[in-house]
Amino acid sequence: MRLHEYQSKQIFAQNGIPIPRGRVASTAATAKEIAMELGGRVVIKAQVLVGGRGKAGGIRLARTPAEAEELATQILGMQIKGLPVRRVLVDEAAAIRSEIYLAVTNERNARRPVMVASAEGGVEIEQVAHDTPDKIVRLLVDPLLGLREYQAREIASRIELPRDHWKTFVQIARGLYQAYAACDATLAEINPLVITEDQRLIALDGKMVLDDNALSRHQDLAELRDIDEEAPVEVEARKYGLSYVAMDGDIGCMVNGAGLAMATMDIIKFNGGKPANFLDIGGGAGSDKVAAALRIILSDPGVHAILFNIFGGITRCDEVARGILAALESVETRVPMVVRLVGTNEAEGRRLLAGAKMETAATLSEAARKAVELAAQHAA
Ligand code: GDP
Ligand code: MN
Repeated sequence: MRLHEYQSKQIFAQNGIPIPRGRVASTAATAKEIAMELGGRVVIKAQVLVGGRGKAGGIRLARTPAEAEELATQILGMQIKGLPVRRVLVDEAAAIRSEIYLAVTNERNARRPVMVASAEGGVEIEQVAHDTPDKIVRLLVDPLLGLREYQAREIASRIELPRDHWKTFVQIARGLYQAYAACDATLAEINPLVITEDQRLIALDGKMVLDDNALSRHQDLAELRDIDEEAPVEVEARKYGLSYVAMDGDIGCMVNGAGLAMATMDIIKFNGGKPANFLDIGGGAGSDKVAAALRIILSDPGVHAILFNIFGGITRCDEVARGILAALESVETRVPMVVRLVGTNEAEGRRLLAGAKMETAATLSEAARKAVELAAQHAA
């Protein structure tokens, strides 16, 4: 789950990182009020959950409250990469001397967090990483020890930060690591961390991505989720506790168990087809969950066949069959379906589905072959 800039920066501030004064507004009138409170120049920043807002025109500098109102009106009417801007952050403007990049993320290969820094931060950081990778400094962190002071100083030295700033930089780097660890984040990023003309270090932009699997122990953070900014199918899948990942193939899959779901995708590919999604309905899924899963699969117009692969253990085949029937009542569809049902209550499950318009298969290979065939026919 991704946090908005203003939310990320509030967390940064709680961890001792200096941020600009400012507040969020959802109307231009409020943006003007905030600009008056702050006095002087402000930046108006679109709060959308995508990167590159600056380049898209979503970050503008205003010299007066009237101009702040004008620019807020424009930005609040924009869409950035397809997402409507519903809120803007109004921050006091900084006079920038230089821009630094600083982040903590997971280094999966090393099984450790890594701190990443560069003296050439700002909107071109991807370009810097691509053209001059040696300008990007990386330092692994032992999760049991956290980021030590000497490590933060080492980063300061390697990015050739002027000595005067080291003390604040150490505080910021450690605060960022602390924010990352305390929130179970997969990314905590400041870009840019600026040195201002009057020689202060401030986090101008902030981005945090939280680990969805850890949200159950962060009720306060889970509440920050901005549903307006997420794909409707993801919202729907989460509501029913389904693990759903959309892909670009044409065979929708509904499977119980993550491992079996992956094996199902493999066997579809093995038979020359392409899965349209990964979907694990989980153990013991009831009929309402199955119905929701089917609606989600069918909401993808690229789906030309559906393969149900149910291995009944805790999940009962008759329950799944009822879910499929319930879903078929609520959704109109001509997409062909193949079902392979084995395990607990399979005879009852098959009997229930006998009247429904779907193919049955005794083995997974047979089911996959049929699904690939049917998808090709339906697409034609
Ligand atoms: P992003 O494009 O989504 O990463 O948004 P940022 O908040 O990082 O802003 C993009 C760029 O706008 C920064 O790298 C700065 O160069 C510039 N910018 C942002 N805030 C200010 C500010 O207060 N003053 C000045 N002069 N430039 C700013
Ligand atoms: Mn940025």
